[in-house]
Amino acid sequence: MAKFDLNDDSVIVIVGSGAGGGTLANELAQKGIRSVVLEAGKRFTMDDIENDEWAMFSKISWLDKRYSAGGWHGAQNHPNLPAWIVKGVGGSTVHWAGVSLRFQEHEFKMKTTNGAVAGANVLDWPIGLKELLPYYKKAEDKMGVTGETTGMPHLPWNNDFRVLAEGARRMGMKEIVSGPMAINSVDRDGRPACQQIGFCMQGCKIGAKWSTMYTEIPRAEKTGKCEVRPNSMVLKIEHDKSGKVNGVVYADLDGKVHKQKARAVCVAGNSIESPRLLLNSESSMFPNGLANGTSGQVGKNYMTHTTAGVYGVLPKPVNMHRGTTVAGIVSDEAHNNTKRGFTGGYQLEVLSLGLPFLSAFMVPGPTGWGRGVASALEKYKYMSGVWICGEDLAQEQNRITLHDTEKDQYGLPVPIVAKTPHINDVNMTNHAYTTMKNIYESVGSKEVYNLPAYPASHNMGTNRMSADAKDGVVNKWGQAHEVSNLFVSDGSQFTSSGSENPTLTIVALAIRQAEYISKQLNAGKL
Ligand SMILES: Cc1cc2nc3c(=O)[nH]c(=O)nc-3n(C[C@H](O)[C@H](O)[C@H](O)COP(=O)(O)OP(=O)(O)OC[C@H]3O[C@@H](n4cnc5c(N)ncnc54)[C@H](O)[C@@H]3O)c2cc1C
Ligand code: SF4
Repeated sequence: MAKFDLNDDSVIVIVGSGAGGGTLANELAQKGIRSVVLEAGKRFTMDDIENDEWAMFSKISWLDKRYSAGGWHGAQNHPNLPAWIVKGVGGSTVHWAGVSLRFQEHEFKMKTTNGAVAGANVLDWPIGLKELLPYYKKAEDKMGVTGETTGMPHLPWNNDFRVLAEGARRMGMKEIVSGPMAINSVDRDGRPACQQIGFCMQGCKIGAKWSTMYTEIPRAEKTGKCEVRPNSMVLKIEHDKSGKVNGVVYADLDGKVHKQKARAVCVAGNSIESPRLLLNSESSMFPNGLANGTSGQVGKNYMTHTTAGVYGVLPKPVNMHRGTTVAGIVSDEAHNNTKRGFTGGYQLEVLSLGLPFLSAFMVPGPTGWGRGVASALEKYKYMSGVWICGEDLAQEQNRITLHDTEKDQYGLPVPIVAKTPHINDVNMTNHAYTTMKNIYESVGSKEVYNLPAYPASHNMGTNRMSADAKDGVVNKWGQAHEVSNLFVSDGSQFTSSGSENPTLTIVALAIRQAEYISKQLNAGKL
């Protein structure tokens, strides 16, 4: 395993080891490019994985102090948990469910497609589907996504998905599939086929689900070109007199502070920590935060998807906990059809929450207990559930800022995560509630529960891509407009959210960015 000196300024430093950082590290390593991955959390082993929702949540989640703010209900009900993110080697790919949809063409061009939207800060991506398509295919192959690219059949339908699919069919819907999922349906690439254990979001005990924890990271390390340092929280990115970054300052497990020199820095700490790090890296040359001078967009345009849950009680037992957690998707409402009263679309994804999480999210906050919740949960066996995942329009007011006075355990200002739904989100959510009510009632449900948004599992925006430096933070390669050897390599570079779960796109962008970095190195530009 490689070990690099702190003074070695020829390495690339990658901050974070999740979908973006872990993939980038392996892609660079396979090209012979040396990197140091600094990961704030610990290294997990397969023995850490338990089939227990709360135990795993406590074990792997990012629980450092954060504040929820803005008009969403979570500002009251989840005041210190705006988002659901992992702290540890593998990042949130330890937790994720595996849904791996590609963006649709129009979702890269939301401004061109629908024009400006009042109150929103919508922008086209500087890239489109055609440019990303080859990288989607590489990502699908790497991750083992069921369907066309790998030739792996989609996963079997569980009862929960059978209920949704039959209801959707009765409502005239047609785009009903149990994939694409980054979960092996047959043994492939050294990982076993899914055994339908049903705790995908608690970490897949057998590794059937793709995670950088046991794919990209060990493969990168095996090349001898990549050193991963767990328990290493990056506090600040430093730069030289010319404004180019030259290393990062980080704290180890004992709180001891080190500086790792670097040829380039790639930030992949997810969409709250990445902008927070840039904001914390202010200097006399970058008084508003690193890479934030021209546009002032660092931390802004935070997107989480328009989300909600719907759970119907069926006449016969469903036992939704059996099988993969997200066993299928209905995409008929995912297209852009403004006649419905909103722009963009939404996916309907089966989501079999276990009893602990269902009870926490059913009536969130201090009122989330009592007879109402208890009698609903008594019908758990008969329940079928869906998660709504829709386009969330960028807004400047939805943003990450730094607390004026309060500091975390590393001495860094605590992040404040503000989120207020746009009227577009409200209209979309109400439309989706009605769609799901009709679907569940069509298969005999007499009771349907609407759940509000959960703490954000899909975190996007905050360092967005833009063609013009005044509109965003990075260019179409994820390279900071203002600092040529600083890259953003995670979901924070998203210009819009699309209606699709983000990870496949994060991985595709990381593969593409590694190619770009390699070319820049060969051309002597980095
Ligand atoms: C329960 C759940 C279910 C999900 N299901 C799906 C799904 O089905 N499909 C899908 O596409 N997506 C899903 N997601 C979302 C997906 O996991 C994320 O979109 C993806 O992992 C984000 O990648 P990232 O690289 O931006 O960040 P992450 O994967 O979160 O990685 C960030 C890493 O950076 C580290 N870090 C942060 N700051 C620092 C710092 N200053 N110094 C050092 N290290 C730092 C963190 O500890 C973390 O390990 C789900 C997420 C959750 C929580
Ligand atoms: S259902 Fe499949 S993917 Fe999910 S945890 Fe079990 S084996 Fe892993």
